[in-house]
Amino acid sequence: MQNKPENIHPIFNTLLNRESKEKLLNQRAKVIWFTGLSGSGKSTIAKGLENELHLLGYLTMVLDGDNVRTGINNNLGFSEEDRKENIRRIAEVAKILLNSGVIAICCFVSPTEELRTIARNIIGKDDFVEVFVNTSIEECERRDVKGLYAKARKGEIKDFTGISAPFEAPANPDVDVKTNGRTVYETVREVVAHILPLIKCTNKNTEDQIVF
Ligand code: ADP
Repeated sequence: MQNKPENIHPIFNTLLNRESKEKLLNQRAKVIWFTGLSGSGKSTIAKGLENELHLLGYLTMVLDGDNVRTGINNNLGFSEEDRKENIRRIAEVAKILLNSGVIAICCFVSPTEELRTIARNIIGKDDFVEVFVNTSIEECERRDVKGLYAKARKGEIKDFTGISAPFEAPANPDVDVKTNGRTVYETVREVVAHILPLIKCTNKNTEDQIVF
């Protein structure tokens, strides 16, 4: 049964604040939100980004589609309502990480402006860094990492983004990374270069440089 609002007493303003945690970690927290077709390279680039930031001394956490759907969102399907609830919960989790001073790296197809707006509104536009992994549908289908495109073509998966459901490219992403014809190394480097200035504290005394 849901609690009535009058029985809920948030304690947000008495908690240790985000700035104290960022200071402890010597970093500025952000939510890095990867959007793109299945197989575009979101998880691959996110892993590379996380490894690189870790080596440079940043605390990060990756939230990834399939992981989340086996855990906190394992009761959700792919109806429109469930897709929205999926994103809403993920954004709330990312916000908890943000308020802990952690750099949250989120990898979700999030195919529509509406879904990304839900996330952006929960997280706050100043902390939401949108990374569009911009890979053509032909290339994603050629890669077919999980065999999902083949199944979608056979009609075994309905409403599959890029085949039988639309993908709306973000109008104004913070980072637009094209992967066609490029190596993972190149694309990870490009994203790292965009993210570092956003998370670096001015007093960070070590010189950040890409080490891999
Ligand atoms: P997504 O998380 O978007 O579904 P994945 O990261 O799981 O996609 O899969 C992307 C696939 O594309 C991986 O097999 C990866 O090695 C390959 N790939 C090839 N070139 C690139 C590139 N430049 N950037 C990212 N991934 C690439």
